[in-house]
Amino acid sequence: MGQAAAGPRRLSTCPSAAFEFAFAFEFSLVSLASLAIRRIVHPLHLAHNGHYAQERYLREYERTQYLPFEEVQRLQLRRLQKRLRHAYLHCRYYREQWDQAGLHPDDIQRLDDLASFPILTKADIQRDRDAMIADDMPASSMRLDHTGGSTGAPISYYQSWDVHCSRMAATRRHDRWAGYQLGDRSAWVWGAPRDLPPDTFKSRLRRKLIDRTLYLDTAHFTAGRMEAFSARLREHRPKVIFAYARALAHLAGHLREAGLEVYRPASIITSAEMLSDDDRAVIQQVFQCPVFNRYGCREVGVIASECQEHAGLHTMAEGLYIEVVVGDRPARPGELGKILITDLLNFAMPLIRYEIGDMGCWDPAPCPCGRGLPRLKGVAGRVTDFVVGPDGRLVSGVFLATYVVAKRPTLGQVQIWQTAPGTLTYKIAPRDGAPTSSADLDFLRTSTAKYVGAGTETRFEFVDELKPEPSGKFIFCRSTVDPALVAQ
Ligand SMILES: [Zn+2]
Repeated sequence: MGQAAAGPRRLSTCPSAAFEFAFAFEFSLVSLASLAIRRIVHPLHLAHNGHYAQERYLREYERTQYLPFEEVQRLQLRRLQKRLRHAYLHCRYYREQWDQAGLHPDDIQRLDDLASFPILTKADIQRDRDAMIADDMPASSMRLDHTGGSTGAPISYYQSWDVHCSRMAATRRHDRWAGYQLGDRSAWVWGAPRDLPPDTFKSRLRRKLIDRTLYLDTAHFTAGRMEAFSARLREHRPKVIFAYARALAHLAGHLREAGLEVYRPASIITSAEMLSDDDRAVIQQVFQCPVFNRYGCREVGVIASECQEHAGLHTMAEGLYIEVVVGDRPARPGELGKILITDLLNFAMPLIRYEIGDMGCWDPAPCPCGRGLPRLKGVAGRVTDFVVGPDGRLVSGVFLATYVVAKRPTLGQVQIWQTAPGTLTYKIAPRDGAPTSSADLDFLRTSTAKYVGAGTETRFEFVDELKPEPSGKFIFCRSTVDPALVAQ
């Protein structure tokens, strides 16, 4: 289809009045279809699955997002107290842990009081999961889920069907901030194979009637597939593209280099991978629409999202209590620390002070959008995205990718690996298989010494190809050195 079919905003550029009328008519049909899906098909689908609670939660979240910050905190405190009392009475793991530490849920009089409770790690869940399941929850009221293990520590966990509904509602609320409503057409540049729909009749019907989605699997990125996907975007005309951040930046960069006409959606929602300023810039430039960054995880769903101000990410505070800590103290506003999450609504298997493995910092300033939901200034990436210098300094892999690797495009594809403080390995897949120049290697050595610290041992490893992780994510930095050792 031609350029004029790329979206409603192109209407004014079309010289033909007849075409404008036809397009406007088609557009109104599309809107009607979206409305019918939202008001009729989806509620029927929810009713069929017994998930009525989703609509109730959505109505609640639409209202509570505009509560003043102090009221959001009061709501969180009430839910936190209830959550901990229930965990103490019904989860053997928490009861034993807190008894040993001389702690009791009644100790929680303010949100800050949670800081004295023990942190929950992925290793704790792997070891003691069954002791964390509430003994008053019937098996039929919960579902088993698991993480993909792209971070090296896969876990399985239970969540109640009720909390599943609340998370679906939270996602829908945050989608709305980017202008997407259920029933609108969407496209997904996505990596996790488990999220891709199976090729069954039921799944195809659902995609046609409810999801109205187009998928590009980032695990199989080739020039041909990217260009074919771009062509299909123009036919499908999605309102919003949901994407793995780095994968979409990769796609955008390729389309720009190839000089192809690119479809413009109304907005783009990126998640699953760290969105750097450079990646955001290339995505916005190529797709010519705003990018709404999002932070979430399999275990608790959407954690935080950008609003229309694009100045930090509002947390899903009604369902999650989030802490940022440095060592065992709360981080100061703007100070980078580890993110801990307490799920306020999951009564099946509560996660309390769960160390998710990401780093972030708070922005205490109120947001101009008027929402009272606390805001993360940014999520700086996974703990494993930071390398540690010989003097203990922390350097973000995104920084190295931007200010070192990106300065030498002749390098081809590069990944940074670290297994011990003060050493760094650049894995290099040279462009077109050509040998890497000594000038490029010297640049990496001197830049590493400059930013990671003099005395850093810089190593190189040459490979034919750098593939995305099995999860579809492009990892550009992986460190097994714990930044907590230096952050304290
Ligand atoms: Zn806002």
